[in-house]
Amino acid sequence: MTKKRNITIIGGGLAGLSLGIALRNHGVSTKVIEAGQYPRHKVCGEFISGVSEESLKDLGIEQLFKDAIRHRNVQWRLGEKVFRRDSLPSDALGISRYALDERLAGEFERIGGELVTDRRVAKLDQKEGVVWSAGRQAEPSKWIGLKAHFDDLELECDLELRLGRGAYVGASRIENGKVNVCGLFQRRKSIQASRTTALVSYVRATGLDSFADRLESSRMDPQSASGVSALAFAKTDKDSDRIQIGDAFAVMPPFTGNGMSLAFESALVAVPFLKQYGEASMNWQETVRKTQKALKEAFGFRLHVSRYLHPWIHSRFGQNAFFTLSKARLVPFQTLLRQVR
Ligand SMILES: Cc1cc2nc3c(=O)[nH]c(=O)nc-3n(C[C@H](O)[C@H](O)[C@H](O)COP(=O)(O)OP(=O)(O)OC[C@H]3O[C@@H](n4cnc5c(N)ncnc54)[C@H](O)[C@@H]3O)c2cc1C
Repeated sequence: MTKKRNITIIGGGLAGLSLGIALRNHGVSTKVIEAGQYPRHKVCGEFISGVSEESLKDLGIEQLFKDAIRHRNVQWRLGEKVFRRDSLPSDALGISRYALDERLAGEFERIGGELVTDRRVAKLDQKEGVVWSAGRQAEPSKWIGLKAHFDDLELECDLELRLGRGAYVGASRIENGKVNVCGLFQRRKSIQASRTTALVSYVRATGLDSFADRLESSRMDPQSASGVSALAFAKTDKDSDRIQIGDAFAVMPPFTGNGMSLAFESALVAVPFLKQYGEASMNWQETVRKTQKALKEAFGFRLHVSRYLHPWIHSRFGQNAFFTLSKARLVPFQTLLRQVR
């Protein structure tokens, strides 16, 4: 009888854990190595758009979203002025990373996966049977991402997306009646704020004063306040001899609300090939080649479109053009949305 093979996944975020769960559900022996611990807050808009119920079911994780908030409507604002209202083609999901990553980790262990936490893999001595899902690579950049949860913040719409100077800030509901506020900002040397005051300071500095006032008069969960820098977007790692999924494969600009769905879907794309490897019916070189080809086919166009849109959403010129064209109903928003999903 042929000996079954093990898979090791580096990085226990959404991509790594959902892949681990799917492989375990197919009977493949799987280990996930994670640098951090669960639960923990991660900088994220916590707005999952574009992943189908079917994909979540195929991964075996749909039950983890039972209490997620269902979102449909998006309101765009330039400063405080509403200039677009859109309805998404399908429901988006609102759930905190604090809850979601922990639930995935729990489910992976429950079905027999081996989870190692607090271990950062520095270098890969062994490549065969290893999948890299360690998130985006840190790169020097002008961007900073900030987020925090608020308890009593009223919203007019499921997702309020505000364009400020060199920034956009999203606010949407997550489980337990909280609102997640998350923004991507051009870094400002003039702002010397603490972890808990940085978000409001940046919101104010980008010209969104009345929203900053509202945040200040709401109750923030100080534990949830987090920040991340060294962000680069829509890059595809060209390392050709390993399988990479999620942000490690390519980073979607956050305004698309699509990075998490790419994490889940890229895991799903990799499952059939890794399953065959685990069952010893495909060798590693073939598994890598076929998985990489399938990932490029599944996401190449989506990444191309989002890479093109990203600078527009941040520049003053791009924002004004978006505002004017939207008012004249000249932005094919639904078409664009469908391209990044
Ligand atoms: C500001 C901002 C807002 C965003 N908003 C949204 C949004 O609203 N909707 C959306 O869909 N997406 C959003 N995203 C993107 C989304 O967060 C990512 O696409 C998603 O987290 C990718 O999942 P992942 O599993 O690939 O990576 P991660 O979630 O980053 O997980 C990677 C894991 O690997 C671990 N790790 C890293 N290095 C090592 C190592 N060497 N050894 C072991 N473990 C390691 C990390 O600790 C981490 O737990 C946003 C991103 C940013 C920056």
